[in-house]
Amino acid sequence: MVTITLHNSMTRRKETFAPINPDNVRMYLCGPTVYDRAHIGNARNVIMFDVLFRLLKHVYGDTHVTYVRNFTDVDDKINARAAQTGRSIGEITAETTQWFLDDMGALGNQLPTHMPRATQYIDQMIAMISDLIAKNHAYAAQGHVLFAVDSYDRYGRLSGRNIDDMIAGARVEVAPYKRNPMDFVLWKPSQDHEPGWDSPWGRGRPGWHIECSAMSRDLLGAHFDIHGGGNDLMFPHHENEIAQSCCADPNAGFANVWLHNEMLQVEGKKMSKSLGNFFTVRDLLDQGYAGEVIRFVFLSTHYGKPMDWTDAKARDAEKTLRKWRALTDGVAPSDIPPAVISTLGDDLNTSGVIALLHQYANAGDAPTLKAAASLIGLLGDDMGHWTAPTHDLSTYETALLKARETAMQTKDFAQVDQLKSLFQSAGLEVRMSKTGVELIPGVGFDIAALPDADTL
Ligand code: AMP
Ligand code: ZN
Repeated sequence: MVTITLHNSMTRRKETFAPINPDNVRMYLCGPTVYDRAHIGNARNVIMFDVLFRLLKHVYGDTHVTYVRNFTDVDDKINARAAQTGRSIGEITAETTQWFLDDMGALGNQLPTHMPRATQYIDQMIAMISDLIAKNHAYAAQGHVLFAVDSYDRYGRLSGRNIDDMIAGARVEVAPYKRNPMDFVLWKPSQDHEPGWDSPWGRGRPGWHIECSAMSRDLLGAHFDIHGGGNDLMFPHHENEIAQSCCADPNAGFANVWLHNEMLQVEGKKMSKSLGNFFTVRDLLDQGYAGEVIRFVFLSTHYGKPMDWTDAKARDAEKTLRKWRALTDGVAPSDIPPAVISTLGDDLNTSGVIALLHQYANAGDAPTLKAAASLIGLLGDDMGHWTAPTHDLSTYETALLKARETAMQTKDFAQVDQLKSLFQSAGLEVRMSKTGVELIPGVGFDIAALPDADTL
């Protein structure tokens, strides 16, 4: 059996991964709040978990891995967006959910096994909250239900924080219904214009953290293998999930391994919506970066390191992928070499896998290159469209065709030759047959190197 090691944020060590049940390896990733396009930082752990999903399926079998990623479709940011735009919440969440799926699909990510939406799990959340109250880990006050952090003595273990320090550092005004300033909301009352559900505590809606505890328990069980998200979620979100789940199911243990990715940065600062220094995955796709190129850039840096997005990286990635695609076009893959599996198994060393891909490419070993790349979701047929012409070259083809017709009569082929060399130096292959003319973009094709079509 292949050895997989993962850096567990809970123990702060790289550990050998041992699934609870090798016939059903279970993982959960905290997904997006659906009110806006995903920015490219949001793609980082989606790609990371996609690679993990592929690796685990390769090692344990395609049908032996369950991957859950949720959609948070009840949240005050969504309500605010609806109020700003005058659109309904349902319309906004449905549209944004589909955008997310389209954008992440364009980056070559497979669909998780389950993609629960929070609003589908309100009953399970209410049941879990009631259970926490019954077990004296939560209390109702003024239409709210709060989790009592001092009822859980391991609170702060994941993030390494101490409750007293947290209280001392808290600058926020403490709500009067809280017994302890660190207590967090499980349920809160809704005004008439806000989304709400009937509950034992009146009409209201869940706090954010409880949804992941309820959905993971329902779909993966109270004890499962891997849980993850960006390291910005470690506190308070994951800390609170642990408190809720471990108090609801005290003998279960919740997630064995916690994986956290470092942030994508712009000039040394976290890319985030609140800082306004973000661009979306769709922006990049619209600018002409292929999804596969974006994916390659992400995989070039280990998930545990901060990473900057730069155009230079994307241009390099594009050049490499064009070469690799030309080399592997129509080639049947070999088996995935063990070195690739063990490299990826070493805490998802994706940049190490890319170094191996360069070796196979340099050796001209196309079958191995193609097989190895598939493990990290590159060079697949599903993502290859971008190397096909994305620009309409028909005006250029017509110009060359016309020049040839004229030349047939005048017997002067100077203009035909001139056009051909112009196209070739822009990176196009020129195919001329009796029936027509075809221009095919080759490695290094650059549309900007062509003159405007109407100047021909
Ligand atoms: P949010 O939309 O802020 O709820 O975040 C959704 C997911 O994206 C969470 O797992 C975050 O940790 C992750 N995330 C947010 N910003 C970044 C970033 N700049 N780099 C990497 N991951 C991020
Ligand atoms: Zn979560």
